[in-house]
Amino acid sequence: MPVNNSRIKGLYTKTVEERLSVVAEATQLAPEHVQALSAHGELDSDAADRMIENVIGTMSLPVGVATNFVINGEHYLIPFCLEESSVVAAASNMAKRCLVHGGFRTNNDEPVMIGQIQLLDIADMERAIAAIAGSEAELIEFCNDIPSKMIELGGGCRAIESRIVQSTLGAMLVVHLLVDCRDAMGANAVNTMVERLAPRLEALCEGRAHLRILSNLASQRLARVAATFTPEEMATKGDREEGLHIIDGILEAQAFAVADPYRATTHNKGIMNAISSVALACGQDWRAIEAGCHAWASLHEGHYTSMSSWTKDADGNLVGEMTLPMAVGIVGGASKVHPAARANLAILGVTTAQELAGIMVCAGLAQNLGALRALSTKGIQAGHMKLHAKNMAVSAGAVGEEIDSLARRLEAYEGHRTQSMVEAWLQEMRDK
Ligand code: NAD
Repeated sequence: MPVNNSRIKGLYTKTVEERLSVVAEATQLAPEHVQALSAHGELDSDAADRMIENVIGTMSLPVGVATNFVINGEHYLIPFCLEESSVVAAASNMAKRCLVHGGFRTNNDEPVMIGQIQLLDIADMERAIAAIAGSEAELIEFCNDIPSKMIELGGGCRAIESRIVQSTLGAMLVVHLLVDCRDAMGANAVNTMVERLAPRLEALCEGRAHLRILSNLASQRLARVAATFTPEEMATKGDREEGLHIIDGILEAQAFAVADPYRATTHNKGIMNAISSVALACGQDWRAIEAGCHAWASLHEGHYTSMSSWTKDADGNLVGEMTLPMAVGIVGGASKVHPAARANLAILGVTTAQELAGIMVCAGLAQNLGALRALSTKGIQAGHMKLHAKNMAVSAGAVGEEIDSLARRLEAYEGHRTQSMVEAWLQEMRDK
């Protein structure tokens, strides 16, 4: 139910506890909800209060660790943070099905982000573009002439490119700064740089700089994964014929996702189930990653399509490949200030942002295969419902022993499982 009035004057001046009580009163929040919001786990109220505005509490989600990942010959345990059952189990299960051919192979670009400067009111586009190209070295030097750890470590502006973009308001000149962000995601670093450079470009082009902001389409910062799954590995119990049949089913499902944006959206949602969960666990800006990946999936085929590619090699093996823009950092943003993000990065043991980017696309590919394999065989609900049984029991109102007891009955049940059925079972149990 909406509140009577969302205009709460000076909320930001109050302490976290005071804000919670103001909001609780305005929304008539039940005591258990107030308790839930004030039960700080790993993120105490002071730390939370430094991260965003008007903090009233924190909210927990489970962190689960995916197993069996061998990436470029190294073993990784991958933390996922999300609320959806089956995701961690499916990724772990699929990761062990490519070990015959050595696990996942990744190859990731240098950590180069793009900053954009929109230049308007330019009388002579060609002259402006030539002026920028002629001064590129000097402009780069200006961009990098600031005290910055990132630049000290070899990062900084690498190149400057100009594009003419046709818009409803006519042609505009869009200048791209290609910035090596080393181990940072780089949004702040790039935004600072484009704002600093804009007046120089205005003078050089005799135009007016308008927007100066990072692009989340990190097309210069691609992470690539490939993995080979033998038919025996794809089978339930090592039977080659069954595995070949499953692989053919996966290829049919893949053709559907490539051709149809309605299917591609769900196919890619499965990929992002892993990528966004690892991003969240590691304190990454998952909205930036989501935006970049979906945009990338729309760029090449003339329509929105599958982020992943699945083919069969000459030996009948299933080969999965995926390339995605992956703007991640292990310094800066929440990756350094959130204690759980620091802990999850420590579980991964990554030493560079490039390494993290590679792990995330591997997780995405494994997750995609989990969904494709389930959909091409017995359907998604069997595995989903197995892990979902406890959630259904809790949603029905079960507590303590009732949860396990209802979940067991639900798992054994062969028919169509519904929430109202579980509620009826709970009532039955209590009436006995
Ligand atoms: P940041 O602002 O903390 O910058 C990184 C800092 O770490 C820099 O000062 C850099 O000099 C230093 N550093 C130390 N060691 C480094 C190393 N090894 N490699 C690189 N830098 C090193 O963080 P950021 O990555 O510039 O910005 C990320 C934040 O910006 C995220 O929280 C994101 O949500 C936010 N943001 C995103 C957008 C967007 O995506 N459109 C826009 C604005 C802000």
